[in-house]
Amino acid sequence: MGQTLSTLAYLVSSVLFILALRGLSHPETSRRGNMFGMVGMGIAILATMFSKGMGFGGIALVIAGLAIGGTIGTIVAQRIQMTALPQLVAAFHSLVGMAAVFVAAGAFYAPMSFGIGTHEHIHAQSLIEMSLGVAIGAITFSGSVIAFAKLAGKMSGAPITFAGQHWLNLALGILLVILIIAFVATGSGVLFWLIALLSFALGFLLIIPIGGADMPVVVSMLNSYSGWAAAGIGFTIGNLLLIITGALVGASGAILSYIMCKGMNRSIINVLLGGFGSEGGAAAGGGGDADRPPVKAGSPEDAAYMMKNAQKIIVVPGYGMAVAQAQQVLREMADLLKKEGVEIKYAIHPVAGRMPGHMNVLLAEANVPYDEVFELEEINPEFADADVAFVIGANDVTNPAAKTDKSSAIYGMPILDVERAKTVFFIKRGMASGYAGVENELFFRPNTMMLFGDAKKVTQEIVQALQR
Ligand code: NAP
Repeated sequence: MGQTLSTLAYLVSSVLFILALRGLSHPETSRRGNMFGMVGMGIAILATMFSKGMGFGGIALVIAGLAIGGTIGTIVAQRIQMTALPQLVAAFHSLVGMAAVFVAAGAFYAPMSFGIGTHEHIHAQSLIEMSLGVAIGAITFSGSVIAFAKLAGKMSGAPITFAGQHWLNLALGILLVILIIAFVATGSGVLFWLIALLSFALGFLLIIPIGGADMPVVVSMLNSYSGWAAAGIGFTIGNLLLIITGALVGASGAILSYIMCKGMNRSIINVLLGGFGSEGGAAAGGGGDADRPPVKAGSPEDAAYMMKNAQKIIVVPGYGMAVAQAQQVLREMADLLKKEGVEIKYAIHPVAGRMPGHMNVLLAEANVPYDEVFELEEINPEFADADVAFVIGANDVTNPAAKTDKSSAIYGMPILDVERAKTVFFIKRGMASGYAGVENELFFRPNTMMLFGDAKKVTQEIVQALQR
């Protein structure tokens, strides 16, 4: 394939990748967005395989790689539980980081294949690009491995801190810059591997102090790093598409991290310095507090009766719905209530669940109509005229402490004003707090009724009661 044709193919792929990102920004267009991405990647692979200089051996290697990687990817994608997606994404990022390290090493040891000079004399500009690629790639690799281990519960999600930690990281960061400068000046192989080693250590040290609750933001930051690493490598090997795709991933990961931090009202510096967020969520007071009013617990039958007679219900899904996989039966419940003439709306908090868009994906999977799903700003004024707020497995995103308690870890986070509804139902298994480990005083309010149990089971029982 001629140079012009392959450049044209890369351009088409880039446009498709941009359309993919645009499509993925809304559940209604996300399938189409995914399709654009897949076609774009298909064109990119074909253009690379048939570009000038790729002999039969090269093509065979690419096909073998595709077959092995594609098989593993398909098996993993079919087996993965929705709730385990964040750790899967972290695991995949570690591979992107490692790939950047390998490509940089390949370019360093075979510069002539990439047209960046000879073994004794690699162009200075390429040495800069390659050292940045290997450093960011190695940090992404070890950082993502730790993020994976924390999210998958293979190691404690609690922040690991020690005295002088930030100073040590700063010193290692300065040492890394010095090594990169020395490498660019000398082109030494020893320095190349020292940069890689130091960056692996730095990735590890940067992520261990970050608590479980902040891990999804970190995963998105590492996603951004992996994009910049790929873009750096794109410059080294002169691949236009890799530069564009890397920059798209880098920029979108950075924007996503910003959006998530805003949703949790935390600054990115605060997240990256670590120390916030425990593993699971400590048990809350449990109603044992002497001056607390008692918790009112109801049965699925009570809930069914009250909801049947309601005019407007706002459903607030959260992480517990994802754990219980209750989205399908929730939609069945909504269908039955709609038949009774009840108006149903869904309220989505930007950080409900454990990854951006978590609730949107689950509701879309259950074929909940998109026009019934509303973002926080749109739906909040409507709670005041709702008869029921049906909170299914959500906790932190409804906690009014975010508005009133300055000492609370979630202070300042925008929340869904469920307490304004006439009655609030909370489906959860017990009195445990949410991910931020903060007690929710709404459980003790007179207009709250707790429906204790697994979200799927309780909703199923409500459905049965509605059918009677
Ligand atoms: P949450 O505050 O973590 O609360 C989820 C609740 O679900 C828990 O209190 C738990 O209580 C209940 N639960 C768990 N399994 C259940 C099951 N099988 N059936 C019924 N209930 C179950 O969740 P959220 O309100 O969705 O808030 C999300 C939290 O994650 C926020 O603190 C947010 O900042 C954080 N976060 C989110 C993102 C993101 O991108 N979405 C990123 C970073 C951090 P029981 O144990 O009593 O059942």
